[in-house]
Amino acid sequence: MALTHPFPTATVLGYPRIGRRRELKRAVESFWAGRTTADELESTALALRRDTARHLVSLGLDADGGAVPGSFSYYDQVLDAVALLGAVPDRFAGLTEAGPGGHGRLPLAAYFAVARGAGDAPPLEMTKWFDTNYHYLVPEIGPGTPIAFADDRVVREFTELARPDDGGAPVVTRPVLVGPVTFLLLSKAADGSPEGFRPLDRLDDVVDAYAGVLRALAAAGAPWVQLDEPALVTDLLGAGFDEVADAVRRAYARLATDLAPGRDRPAILVAAPYGDLRGGSGDGLALLAGTDVEAVAVDLVRGSAPTGAVPGLDSTTLVAGVIDGHNVWRADLGARLADLEGLTAAGAGAVTVGTSTSLLHVPHDVADEPRLDSALAGWLAFADQKVAEVVTLATGLTQGREAVADRLAESAAAVRSRAAAPGVVVPAVRERTAALTPEDAERAPYARRAAAQRERLDLPPLPTTTIGSFPQTAEIRAARAAWARGELSDADYTAAMRGQIAATVALQEELGLDVLVHGEPERNDMVQYFAEQLDGFATTVNGWVQSYGSRCVRPPILWGDVSRPAPLTVSWTAYAASLTSKPVKGMLTGPVTILAWSFVRDDLPLGETAEQVALALRDEVADLEASGIGVVQVDEPALRELLPLRTAAHAEYLDWSVRSFRLATAGADVATQVHTHLCYSEFGQVIGAIDGLDADVTSVEAARSRMEIVPQLADAGFGRGIGPGVYDIHSPRVPSVEEVTELVTLAAKAIDPRLVWVNPDCGLKTRGPAETRESLANLVTATRTVRATL
Ligand code: GLN
Ligand code: ZN
Repeated sequence: MALTHPFPTATVLGYPRIGRRRELKRAVESFWAGRTTADELESTALALRRDTARHLVSLGLDADGGAVPGSFSYYDQVLDAVALLGAVPDRFAGLTEAGPGGHGRLPLAAYFAVARGAGDAPPLEMTKWFDTNYHYLVPEIGPGTPIAFADDRVVREFTELARPDDGGAPVVTRPVLVGPVTFLLLSKAADGSPEGFRPLDRLDDVVDAYAGVLRALAAAGAPWVQLDEPALVTDLLGAGFDEVADAVRRAYARLATDLAPGRDRPAILVAAPYGDLRGGSGDGLALLAGTDVEAVAVDLVRGSAPTGAVPGLDSTTLVAGVIDGHNVWRADLGARLADLEGLTAAGAGAVTVGTSTSLLHVPHDVADEPRLDSALAGWLAFADQKVAEVVTLATGLTQGREAVADRLAESAAAVRSRAAAPGVVVPAVRERTAALTPEDAERAPYARRAAAQRERLDLPPLPTTTIGSFPQTAEIRAARAAWARGELSDADYTAAMRGQIAATVALQEELGLDVLVHGEPERNDMVQYFAEQLDGFATTVNGWVQSYGSRCVRPPILWGDVSRPAPLTVSWTAYAASLTSKPVKGMLTGPVTILAWSFVRDDLPLGETAEQVALALRDEVADLEASGIGVVQVDEPALRELLPLRTAAHAEYLDWSVRSFRLATAGADVATQVHTHLCYSEFGQVIGAIDGLDADVTSVEAARSRMEIVPQLADAGFGRGIGPGVYDIHSPRVPSVEEVTELVTLAAKAIDPRLVWVNPDCGLKTRGPAETRESLANLVTATRTVRATL
């Protein structure tokens, strides 16, 4: 097959799209608020896309040939695919207008309505994107869902940069789309689909529509297109390798073989980020090499490099993802260049350099972090630094090491400086983890704990509690921000937070809750709050990363051995306890969640880092106990999220993650009640682990799935306290007394009622004060009703 354009020697699989100063976030939110028009939003987005593309060229990517990824999105790349296909659920059909070929196209306002809901129509569900902290919208596909080439936005966006009308330099980008197989495997069957229907059944329709897009891109002059197929690196999407392989063969026979490259379509790069193409029950690399796509991008950070010749790869370009798109460390360029040189064994037609994943998951630029310690800054690579690394490696690969000798030397010096820096390895921390014994992760048998806790806490049946946070009002956020800016003194800040805590305690007493919380007003974020106080972490000022839509987070950077220089939460919790005779629950974030929502170090196994965090928390639990606290909750909402994409790796992960939780909590006295909170609804793969945590009480999200989890736990023999959420905190809706009564009754029937707790699904920080009061009042009333029937 004749290649009109060889694949660029250096590329990245995607680039942050929210803007260096979160320009897109602001533009989108002002459109939502009705302060700007769709035209204004589109012109802000165009300017951002132009600046970004030209900036990437200034960093060394080629301006033509498709080296610069066209990976922009107004909200989410999966929603973009929904829009491209016009695959809109019926409830939004009225919002579409006629697009090319008369198919239903979503104007911008409707596109956002599908993402965020409109009137009575709930939005698409949102869930985690592979093993990242990015959330995508889950398409709903049924047998009758419209699927066609309905929206040519991706073509327009290509043309706007390739033939700009602002007099600036043109950039020939490589449009990036979610691949057809991954799109359908990430979809769920639309409500009302017949039994046995699966979205993948619509593959031919999706592929036909993609064929239309590819034709249009070829006509517009795009040399390359990128189709992301990370479905090939995971076992968690409910399809086995053979089924995925069959779908890939069918899809790419139609797209790559039946369409003539250069005429009917651009050359195709299939990217397989986030994991190991060859780690499942079949070889995904050989599978792709056997299709007629011109290039395959592999993740060589998470995945393994082929050690021998791969059949069919001789006519394919291998885009070697040796720069980590998912973490923030500067690469050891000498070692990565050696990896690239070693790839010749695979027998690829050509080897070029790329990132392991899109750079969507890292902040823009280390130079935007004036407050970072300068040594630490020298070890980091954010998106722009990673582009430069890719360019350096490509130069080294094509022109020889001498051509980049200076940069290799700088990189080696950074690696050495990091390894030797104070704080990276702290002997006292290492000695403590080395001395751990299995007993350190064991508590006394549950029966003994339960008896001691009954005596100490004297709670009614079906005890009521909350998950920790209370509404974070504008007033609370303003006080925290003023304090951070130095405009509020420590004393005034403490007084303000204590005022909030006192009000929260008073409210809970008035409502009649049984186990109270302090409400977490002092916490900006449940991970950052801890990272700011622990040694071994740094936090950023501008290190924003898109979490979903316009929402961005600033993950802390875990760079060294972790320890706790001083108590973290004790003064706030003890203050709350001093205001009431009811038990107050101390609130900590667990080790796995702290790791999951941070950038973690890559020079120590995650399990060992987790032990260090666990021991810091263990000391905090001891200090809470010493101050008289008898109930401590350790939240692990991310336990499910870090679950490896390959089933073969699950046992090892669950082993260290469960152990780290137990290390954090097993120092507690028998009479101290340990709670945990897990918030997601897919428990299937972690049900054994939930039991393994050995918490006295476990609260879980359950309201939307109508307590489904409770019988599952009962079947698995779970015999400790369980608090299935009875109040869906994801919406402002107040649950009625009847509704809560019904859910509590369901739970108390499915499992021994003496084990059942009553609580909301999750923390209340995003809720308003009025709806919170009303909802909790209903929760208490309903509980009293059910109690009377026991
Ligand atoms: N304790 C936390 C809160 O209530 C738990 C949050 C979470 O599970 N995501 O906000
Ligand atoms: Zn939660």
